[in-house]
Amino acid sequence: PVRVRFAPSPTGPLHIGGVRTALFNYLFAKKHNGTFYLRIEDTDQNRFVPGAEEYIFEALEWLGIAPSETIGKNEKFGPYRQSERKHLYKQYADQLIQNGWAYYAFDTNQQLEFRRNMAEASGSNFIYNWQTRNLLDNSLNLSEKDALGIRKDPKTRISEGEEYVIRFKTPVNEILELKDIIRGNIKFDTNLLDDKVLFKSDGMPTYHLANIVDDHLMETSHVIRGEEWLPSLPLHHLLYKAFGWEAPEFAHLPLILKPIGNGKLSKRDGDKMGFPVFPLEWKTDEGISSGYRENGFFPEAVVNFLALLGWNDGTDQEIFSLEELCEKFDLNRVHKAGAKFDPEKNKWFNHQYLQKQSDESLAEAFEKNVIEKNGKCDFSFVEMTKIVSLIKERANFVSEFWNLADYFFVAPTSYDEKATKNWKEETPGLMQQLISVLSTIEDFTSVTIETIVKDWMTQNEIGMGKVMQPFRLSLVGALKGPHLFDIVELIGKEETIKRLEKAIA
Ligand code: GLU
Repeated sequence: PVRVRFAPSPTGPLHIGGVRTALFNYLFAKKHNGTFYLRIEDTDQNRFVPGAEEYIFEALEWLGIAPSETIGKNEKFGPYRQSERKHLYKQYADQLIQNGWAYYAFDTNQQLEFRRNMAEASGSNFIYNWQTRNLLDNSLNLSEKDALGIRKDPKTRISEGEEYVIRFKTPVNEILELKDIIRGNIKFDTNLLDDKVLFKSDGMPTYHLANIVDDHLMETSHVIRGEEWLPSLPLHHLLYKAFGWEAPEFAHLPLILKPIGNGKLSKRDGDKMGFPVFPLEWKTDEGISSGYRENGFFPEAVVNFLALLGWNDGTDQEIFSLEELCEKFDLNRVHKAGAKFDPEKNKWFNHQYLQKQSDESLAEAFEKNVIEKNGKCDFSFVEMTKIVSLIKERANFVSEFWNLADYFFVAPTSYDEKATKNWKEETPGLMQQLISVLSTIEDFTSVTIETIVKDWMTQNEIGMGKVMQPFRLSLVGALKGPHLFDIVELIGKEETIKRLEKAIA
């Protein structure tokens, strides 16, 4: 059965790239009637950030892609927090020592630093593996070795209280050809791999060991994660081999790229260009990072545009509901190349989803806004839904409604300069006549008003533009807005006449 996981480290707010990884795992699980579980990878205690774990859960919940198995939920393979599985990992590290796939290493930070500098001085990359191990050992004479304790048995050194780590013993002179679902076969030269630390001197496993042990114990069938983990693939593959376990399948998702220029999308791009890179707002002492939720994005819109960062269904379709995505998602259609992040396109998606909302729910949200801006809202709920239905087409966000519709609530205090050229000498007279016409109308609804006003214009041979533009200007303050007679109906007879009188005064 398909079992996939999202395995974030709680080192800060979940970045949009992390959310995309979670989403693709979620979609893959749903598509194959599998399970999407979440594991918290918090073995690096130096990088632990309070609140980050809660943030991750809240964000996935908001987006509607919460895991079905995790801390406090269907805990079949728990605990799901690696810090609570600490007792588990040591035995696996020991197992690798015993079967020759790992060794104790006693290097001090100074020694490592020394080796790194040596490598740099000779113009090569520092690789901690068999070569450097041998080079170091061979360059020392026996008394130097004794001084470093190298000739002593590691067990003795440990029992004498020396600090140690456990490192993976990378095999030499092998070319690994590994399969990635998205990238196909990739070759790795084992001589270029570091002997990574698996177990640290503080008694904690490193990411690599904990990740492999847990993916195995939690019966993970596919590992779907960001491209930045591709360099770890050979080590992970070798670890499965060393344990004698069947490895899951791997898929490394393409990077999310900056909107302009090259390179990975970063928080700074968002700050610079004014768009969020986090699902939810994140507050620290250093400041606030804005979130999609607080910026008025609909979670469905965010899910939709994230799904298309590196994937499409092979057609031109761009709008997908979550159910549709679950049905159509296919790892084989995920691109290798990085996906450019387009903040304008994200707004476009939100625009599309805004049009899909019910006028009632939009009216409810708008009402709150109006009270915030205006101190009160004199329109009934039904009228509010009408206002919303008239303006929403022009909006990407509910927060834009006020600027699009403020004239419904407050009479214009000034008139658009450019539009006043439509205000001619004859205009006040015409507006005065218009007031008389309007005041006779009993059934003050858009269609009736329109019919009566237009009849009056035809009968008196008054050109449309001569009346309609100054009329609009008087009510709205500018030549913008939806169908004029819809505005007139909503504003009402009394207020309409008041605004006309003010305009000609
Ligand atoms: N804890 C890793 C991270 O923070 C997980 C990487 C993986 O999925 O293997 O991204």
